Amino acid sequence: HGWWDKVRVAPKDPTVKVNESFLADPFPHKINLGVGTYRDDDGKPFTPQCVGDAEAKINRYKLEETNSSEVSSKFVMESVKLAYGNDSFVVREGLYAGVPTLSGTGACRLFAEFQRNFYPDSQIHLPDPTWPNHHNIWSQAQIPVKTFHYYDPYTKGLDFDALISDVKNAPDSSFFLLHPCAHNPTGIDPTEEQWREISYQFKVKNHFPFFDMAYQGFSSGDLDKDAAALRIFVEDGHLVGLAQSFAKNMGLFGHKVGCLSVLTRDIKQAAAVKSQLEHIFHSMYSSPPIHGILLVTMILSDPTMKEQWKKEIKIMANRIRAMRTTLRRNLEDLDSSFSWEHITNQVGMFCFSGLTPDQVKYLEKQFHIYMSPDARISMAGVTPSNVNYLANAIHQVTR
Ligand code: PMP
Repeated sequence: HGWWDKVRVAPKDPTVKVNESFLADPFPHKINLGVGTYRDDDGKPFTPQCVGDAEAKINRYKLEETNSSEVSSKFVMESVKLAYGNDSFVVREGLYAGVPTLSGTGACRLFAEFQRNFYPDSQIHLPDPTWPNHHNIWSQAQIPVKTFHYYDPYTKGLDFDALISDVKNAPDSSFFLLHPCAHNPTGIDPTEEQWREISYQFKVKNHFPFFDMAYQGFSSGDLDKDAAALRIFVEDGHLVGLAQSFAKNMGLFGHKVGCLSVLTRDIKQAAAVKSQLEHIFHSMYSSPPIHGILLVTMILSDPTMKEQWKKEIKIMANRIRAMRTTLRRNLEDLDSSFSWEHITNQVGMFCFSGLTPDQVKYLEKQFHIYMSPDARISMAGVTPSNVNYLANAIHQVTR
């Protein structure tokens, strides 16, 4: 036999496919609504000013000589503070184990490995739908994937009753993945009251909540408000697992800066968990690249830079919200016979439009508008100069 004869081309990721079709289209007014990263009003990637400021200062560091365990600890502490609040007892008492990761994806994958190492017979329960890569991440880590109800296609909102009943019917002590804010792809978050109920039911069942927070700040424009779900779970005494990404909210997509943290019962457990997380990634890539970690740490620990960052998050969140309002109003002005209320009810980067697969195809073929096959619109791709064209196209394919 010849080596690698059995290797066939892997199926292409749907979002990669969308992007390739977009790039190959010569039409000048084409629109890319597949991108998951923030774009400004001109459709350009956006680097917050605080990142530029931090870059300028960091160049003076000698990266080679930085004590990386000290750097990691500071980065993790700042990330954990961002999630649970500056004066949370979790931070004060050091009741967490955390490590820097290769962005949000790396945090999820590292957790999945950790989960398999210590709970080899466990499963992961993912919302239906969720970011498609969640399925790949846990499957690659050899953990069986189950789904729980989340989206209700009829109301284009949360199917809360079905969600709760899935939580109740799962075996006791199951692992669940939750999006604390700006759910991808639906843009639908539970209300605070619903989170309290979910947390309560988790407690009753002793489920483990693993939060994947890839868009802190994008739901409400406010970092603390977007962390409300996490803080409710902590208040209720859960030992939460958390993946954080700075790809979107700090515009650091290419730097791959993320954090995985797990809350622990005491400091002794924190040390043990941390050492195991390090043990896993040491065997894969020794240590993560440090430049982005230094950038984020500097921004989070410098009050002036942090304030600047908060302002810039508001700008990003407000721009997206303004585009939601304009898109909906334009559709209503065209006398569309459908309800487009969900465009403004949904939050974060994405609008789960409810368009059918055929309508998505028409948009692509006739109007050069590209989105993922599940009809998820990345609102970051909508701008003042393309929103009229987009509304008109959506009206044409749905009338
Ligand atoms: N989780 C969710 C829900 C996401 O949407 C994404 C990014 N699309 C990620 C994790 C991965 O984030 P990162 O780019 O930081 O790896």
